Amino acid sequence: MTYPNTQLFIDGQWQDAAEGKTLAVFNPATGKEIGRVAHASKVDLDKALAAAQKGFETWRDMTAAERSKIMRKAAALMRERAGDIGRLITQEQGKPVAEGKGEALAAADIIEWFAEEGFRIYGRIVPSRGGLHVRQMVLKDPVGPVAAFTPWNFPINQVVRKVAAALTAGCSMLVKAPEETPAGPAALIQAFQDAGIPNGVLGLVYGNPAEISSYLIPHPTIRKITFTGSTPVGKQLAALAGQHMKRVTMELGGHAPVIVCEDADIALAVKAAGAAKFRNAGQVCISPTRFLVHESIAKDFAAAFAKQAQGLKVGDGLADGTQMGPLANPRRLTAMAEFTKDAVERGATLVAGGERIGDAGNFWQPTILADVPLEAKVFNDEPFGPMAAIRPFNTVEEAIAEANRLPFGLAGYAYTRSLKNADLLARRVEVGMLWINQPATPSAELPFGGVKDSGYGSEGGPEAVEAYLNVRAVSVTNV
Ligand code: NAD
Repeated sequence: MTYPNTQLFIDGQWQDAAEGKTLAVFNPATGKEIGRVAHASKVDLDKALAAAQKGFETWRDMTAAERSKIMRKAAALMRERAGDIGRLITQEQGKPVAEGKGEALAAADIIEWFAEEGFRIYGRIVPSRGGLHVRQMVLKDPVGPVAAFTPWNFPINQVVRKVAAALTAGCSMLVKAPEETPAGPAALIQAFQDAGIPNGVLGLVYGNPAEISSYLIPHPTIRKITFTGSTPVGKQLAALAGQHMKRVTMELGGHAPVIVCEDADIALAVKAAGAAKFRNAGQVCISPTRFLVHESIAKDFAAAFAKQAQGLKVGDGLADGTQMGPLANPRRLTAMAEFTKDAVERGATLVAGGERIGDAGNFWQPTILADVPLEAKVFNDEPFGPMAAIRPFNTVEEAIAEANRLPFGLAGYAYTRSLKNADLLARRVEVGMLWINQPATPSAELPFGGVKDSGYGSEGGPEAVEAYLNVRAVSVTNV
């Protein structure tokens, strides 16, 4: 399947930008341009906003069953097309094709789960103090047209969590998807179009992210903002949304601690955390990053982890057997070089990787740093790449204090055979999602989101739907 050019999707039509502007899309495995994406201007945004309002009025008034039927059809189409879509994602984002296909299949699961959840948007009847002839109702209504901003690391998954929750709640959504990986989001929207979603319910635009967000967030049509990306950008967008009194969900960066206790199954910890570390070349907001390992096992852990990292097959995601692809953009390569240099200069030991691979494409060796000083940049800023930093600890309390030291609180991991440790970790580690003795399982039915600077709101479970609903009280006296 040749990589397509991507247009804007406005009012049910795929179209070029009004001013005809486009941006180049590059394959991160080759550095070569593979296509173009339409670049929206205000004229396109105004059309998309008008369509989102019209689409909202149509979709809001449909039944949960009607909405669910369209969503389930879109899910089936995603499943049917997963192989082709996976290859598109690999070409624009770099991840191995199996991961790209997995993303499309996961999207189908997410849409299906949310399609059912729409049947459970219950209000309630509250007994009245005024007498039995007074009926007090609590109603839940869709909040209105939503503006969504999504990043390039999971071109489809980052969009579908927002779209599925908003649609099941009865909202329309205008998505500003990533310019670097436009075809994945377009394939998702196409599935909804083919499933029969009414015009205007979903819109898709690309362009200058700051220009688009500063136009859409204050716009009176938009009633809610949802953003996934870095904490600094999230804070800017949340501040702007606050000025205009718009509801917000923020899914921001993390710096996930992995606490490996003295009594842990080391082989399990290396296998599970290692697989998670190098998935999508570590460009995952819940990627394990700060490995806090009990001092009695830290050396063995680092050696086993290094061996695993060195054994990974890195290459073009389209090639058979590739376990890790290139980084999605050259910015990440620069960042990996800086993190490595800084850590080594401060006294860390490089036990695996640490170098760019070749000079074409954005390939970086799976990298493990041991005995990393706390001041090293990699122990403070999210690496967002195939890089693990290890530090020894003495007591579990000390490890918990380090896990909580940073302002982030998205994902965390721990390995222990002790119930007492597991309980302490569950209560004290300040993260939105903690996985003990297992890799991450971010399924649609589980809350997905962070605490502290990692954002607020959830993109999984019933809470994700609540985020798109207004709660209103209506009281009727039977006269
Ligand atoms: P960035 O901070 O410039 O951009 C992050 C995302 O936000 C991109 O998708 C970008 O298009 C979007 N964005 C930036 N400015 C915006 C604005 N004013 N309005 C609307 N959207 C805006 O950095 P980057 O180089 O693309 O990514 C680097 C960092 O971003 C990573 O180190 C990581 O911390 C974070 N990130 C997080 C996630 C996540 O899943 N939470 C995904 C991608 C990137």
